Amino acid sequence: MVEIFELINRERKRQNEGLELIASENYVSKNVLKAQGSILTNKYAEGYPGKRYYGGCEIIDEIENLAIRECCELFNVKFANVQPHSGSQANAEAYRALQKYLKIEKRKMKILSCQLSDGGHLTHGSSVSFSSNLYEFCFYKLDDTGHINMTYIEEAIVNNHPDVLLIGFSSYPYSIDFEEISKICKKHNILLMVDMAHIAGIVAAGKCQNPCKYADIVTSTTHKTLRGPRGGIIVTNNEELIKLINSAVFPYYQGGPLEHIIAAKAICFNEAKRAEFKDYIEEVLNNTEICKTAFDWLNCSVSGTENHLFLLNTKKSFGLTGLEAQNKLEEIGITTNKDMLPNDDESPKTTSGLRIGLAALTSRGINAKQVQFLAVIICNYLRGQISKEKAIVGVTSITSSLKEI
Ligand SMILES: *Cc1c(COP(=O)(O)O)cnc(C)c1O
Repeated sequence: MVEIFELINRERKRQNEGLELIASENYVSKNVLKAQGSILTNKYAEGYPGKRYYGGCEIIDEIENLAIRECCELFNVKFANVQPHSGSQANAEAYRALQKYLKIEKRKMKILSCQLSDGGHLTHGSSVSFSSNLYEFCFYKLDDTGHINMTYIEEAIVNNHPDVLLIGFSSYPYSIDFEEISKICKKHNILLMVDMAHIAGIVAAGKCQNPCKYADIVTSTTHKTLRGPRGGIIVTNNEELIKLINSAVFPYYQGGPLEHIIAAKAICFNEAKRAEFKDYIEEVLNNTEICKTAFDWLNCSVSGTENHLFLLNTKKSFGLTGLEAQNKLEEIGITTNKDMLPNDDESPKTTSGLRIGLAALTSRGINAKQVQFLAVIICNYLRGQISKEKAIVGVTSITSSLKEI
């Protein structure tokens, strides 16, 4: 179908000519792309290596076993399920496994999580997600500075008696002390689940605490800072739990695994073990810090940052809602996404700010000077101090020197 290939080419052009600041996006390697587009998509393999419901799975078994081994080695865990089709599905499957593990049958399992408006994810109990239907959620808040506060978490545990504490964010710019959090869970005898979707690459590179060491169960996507194919994983060190995870993934929630994606996951785990990946993550952290500091110099209102992202308060900085800022930046080829700020008084559809991440642009080789220049373009354009034409000239001068997709 010619039309689709034309559209793919147009999208490639958009990706090459634009500046991608969405914190959850990245560019995969040629090898990841190659595995994803391979003939492995032809094979049905319901079940697990050695226990399939279809014949002809000898080679597929080797592929999936390799992916599991690479995943366990990368995150230093005993067990992994590499079949979840996405991060959201991994969460659904993890909840189901935890409920079985706790043998909760007559009531809903109760999960303490951070609400969407403070940086949580839809699957962490939002009313528009399956999660709030199947489980009972209660929430902890971030403090006034937008940080996790151990006292708030402990108070929420004491007041709500949850079965599970869920830690994980889509827009939290600071590092997380998983060890300290796990101590609170042990003290109150509840399980700890971590959703490391955003920070998996930083964990893999050893540049932040590894939650797999402290949590009972950890879910993740593979396509954000980890720079792999679009998909999910679930890992644990608990032998009883991995059995329940496996049956929650298949047959409870999913049918045939996407073995072409699993092969691509194996490649991504292997790439993430290498020294070049550590250098890459270090560069992401540097670029994010440089970008955030540039906004400080320009008198904008920004959060701090200790990872690959920060929050820009567009209302305070430019008198624009997050939605208005996002739309204006799109006019000049800069892609961002509006995001709720802690204690935001706007709705999730408008918001008061943007979430800005440097993982994708760092994959394209952006340097410190270009990052600073980018902050200047964004700021001047949103303040109406430069024309659209002039802003586009600036954007093009950056994109023209970046690596091609
Ligand atoms: C992105 C994200 C997910 C969901 O991943 P999908 O693959 O989009 O379903 C889950 N949890 C967190 C914290 C995320 O940031």
